[in-house]
Amino acid sequence: MTFSYRMRWMLPVALLRLLLVSVIKNAGNHTYDSSHRLETYYDFIVVGSGSAGATLAARLSEVTGWRILLLEAGGEPPPESHVPALYPALLQGEADWNFVTTRQRHSLRGFTDRVSTPYGRGKVVGGSSTINFMMYLRGNRRDFDNWEAMGNPGWSYRDVLPYFIKSEDYRGTRHGATAAYHGFGGPLTVEDKHWYTPLLNGFLKAGQQLGYNVIDANGPEMIGDRSAFLSFVSADEVAVTKAGALCTRPRGSRVKVKGGALRLPTPSNKSREDARAPTPAQRNPALER
Ligand SMILES: Cc1cc2nc3c(=O)[nH]c(=O)nc-3n(C[C@H](O)[C@H](O)[C@H](O)COP(=O)(O)OP(=O)(O)OC[C@H]3O[C@@H](n4cnc5c(N)ncnc54)[C@H](O)[C@@H]3O)c2cc1C
Repeated sequence: MTFSYRMRWMLPVALLRLLLVSVIKNAGNHTYDSSHRLETYYDFIVVGSGSAGATLAARLSEVTGWRILLLEAGGEPPPESHVPALYPALLQGEADWNFVTTRQRHSLRGFTDRVSTPYGRGKVVGGSSTINFMMYLRGNRRDFDNWEAMGNPGWSYRDVLPYFIKSEDYRGTRHGATAAYHGFGGPLTVEDKHWYTPLLNGFLKAGQQLGYNVIDANGPEMIGDRSAFLSFVSADEVAVTKAGALCTRPRGSRVKVKGGALRLPTPSNKSREDARAPTPAQRNPALER
């Protein structure tokens, strides 16, 4: 990002933040421990507070007494991350790593000259979930089944489906045939999109004429059309579905979140050995729920 780019956006961004902080209850606030005070030891140090890291830290914190430190290279979520429609304002800003792809041969075909393009990745507490569009679409069952067929037992769609269901709090329309594929009471709120445009209606209709039914894309059949499921309910609840906020829920232990902490990998053989996944016998039974 160039200096002039920053200067041009500084005032509008400052005004927008001021407005958001005054209008939205949760914007600019959080309840996890982000003080600079560190303990002398931690039972677990998780690097990266994105969807994966925050979930891992939150699950570990369910065991009373464990000390968990979550290290994050970026800072705290900016106020505009509480309003899903403002996601474009987060891209290429301070909460983004500002990566750019190399020149593409097989993608970006809609671009003249197939140039490189910005590639958003969150550098902020909550990682990419803090800057993403909040659409909820599970990976396709065929991909999971293919991974298992490639020699990864336990990764078939049948194996991972219980975890999708467990993590979901589905508040959308219930259809008899797909109800068994949804979960209720989990940490991730999922609901139907409530607005349809003439363009979207026309698109769905055109799909039907081509033989693509309007389906629940997270149900048994995953190829078809539908408007997106979204993972939020209201502006105040948006924060609940962002990964960083998982760590704010009351649990057995508190997670300490340290922003601005870039942890570089140490590629020694010893650390690689330590990083191996635990065998079932090494796992803590308290987390096998
Ligand atoms: C613009 C955008 C829109 C998207 N829209 C959707 C959507 O609508 N629906 C959907 O399901 N998915 C969406 N995604 C994808 C989804 O957000 C990601 O797949 C998911 O968040 C990835 O989780 P992760 O934990 O693997 O990585 P991330 O969430 O990216 O987390 C990685 C974290 O690690 C930190 N980190 C990296 N290196 C270090 C280091 N050395 N030291 C300390 N910290 C470090 C990063 O700063 C980051 O916070 C979108 C992604 C983007 C970027």
